[in-house]
Amino acid sequence: MINRNEIILAKIGEVVLKGLNRKNFEDLLIKNIRRRLHPIGAFEVKASQSTIRITPLDDNIDMDEACSRVSKVFGVVAYCRARAVEKDIEKIKQAAAEYLEDELLLARSFKVESKRSDKKFPYGSPEISKEVGGFLADTFPNLAVDVHSPEVTVTVEVRDMAAYVHSNAKEGAGGLPIPSGGRAAVLISGGIDSPVAAYMMAKRGIELTAIHFASPPYTSERAEDKVRRLLELVSEYAGRIEMYTVPFTKIQEEIKNKCPEDLFTIIMRRMMMRVSQKIAMEHECMALITGESLGQVASQTLGAIACTDEMAGMPVFRPLIGMDKKEIIAVSEKINTFETSLLPYEDCCTVFTPRHPRTKPKLEMVRRAEAAVSWDELIDEAVKGVKCTVIYPADSVR
Ligand code: ATP
Ligand code: MG
Repeated sequence: MINRNEIILAKIGEVVLKGLNRKNFEDLLIKNIRRRLHPIGAFEVKASQSTIRITPLDDNIDMDEACSRVSKVFGVVAYCRARAVEKDIEKIKQAAAEYLEDELLLARSFKVESKRSDKKFPYGSPEISKEVGGFLADTFPNLAVDVHSPEVTVTVEVRDMAAYVHSNAKEGAGGLPIPSGGRAAVLISGGIDSPVAAYMMAKRGIELTAIHFASPPYTSERAEDKVRRLLELVSEYAGRIEMYTVPFTKIQEEIKNKCPEDLFTIIMRRMMMRVSQKIAMEHECMALITGESLGQVASQTLGAIACTDEMAGMPVFRPLIGMDKKEIIAVSEKINTFETSLLPYEDCCTVFTPRHPRTKPKLEMVRRAEAAVSWDELIDEAVKGVKCTVIYPADSVR
């Protein structure tokens, strides 16, 4: 029996390629889809034949919202809304004409593709296409058949439980299901870059923990709110994120008072790495993530990056390393963080900035300059002073 007449079909991407792991990946994907849809109503989420079938179980579910949520689940390469219909060729024809009417009235060309996995269905795939195609061509005189590059591809899938009719699939989020990639800690500021870096690693199946350095009173509560807001937007893709805010004022003041001005930034970034590594290890993160892009600013030259990496003690992922600002902005617009990132609050990196930061710091020189401060206690104090905030998706209250 078909109890619902509209469903979502989500196509599994790279997940399919994972051989023996496939079942695990599929299970994660189903769990993630369930978790994202749970707040908006009851659904049945089931995998069959490299497709996940998402069936609403309540009458008043907002299917636009459901699609928007599915479009942000990593591991889904494409998705579409489909009409479920009884496995009867006449009913399938009617359903195609009715369900896709708006789209077909506007189009000039179309074709029908059919897949028959229920071998008991009396029509073969080419016959289904021919029957449905003929009916649609008669019903919509504006439509010509174009098998090579049609504007609309009507798909008929005859499966175990029912037949499904849909048109062109939409692009999904791609990537791999979280947490198949393990856990890593993203160093998040209020800028454009780090939310994009977080999103990009989450897309590879990484579960995120976030670390934010705050330097009150030089940085304000509003700057921290902005970071939380950015993470809520990232969380629509990445799921729940624990954010650790680190009190960084003392360390920064110490650097300012005791280290040479031109090395201020590089030493500060080294200390950020030291603190981050400790927090990451406490929370079972196997790598750090930053939004650095080669050559973007003085602290992101190859020499500076080599100096900061020495302190990390674990892999540091920089997914934006080869990207131009324009390309980074395109992603931030896509994930809707761009406008929030533009809000003009200060970051700890912009307080005490040197007039002439050194772009080619020598490791030896940096180590010598750093020796003026005894760091261990300051670092421990910063790590002990972290405040944890749990971040949920921005749309969880929509
Ligand atoms: P973004 O646009 O991400 O803020 P940025 O262009 O401002 O980056 P930097 O200030 O040099 O560049 O920071 C480089 C990276 O260092 C950031 O992408 C982020 O990963 C990390 N970072 C900077 N400031 C902070 C902060 N206050 N807390 C945590 N991480 C930070
Ligand atoms: Mg940057």
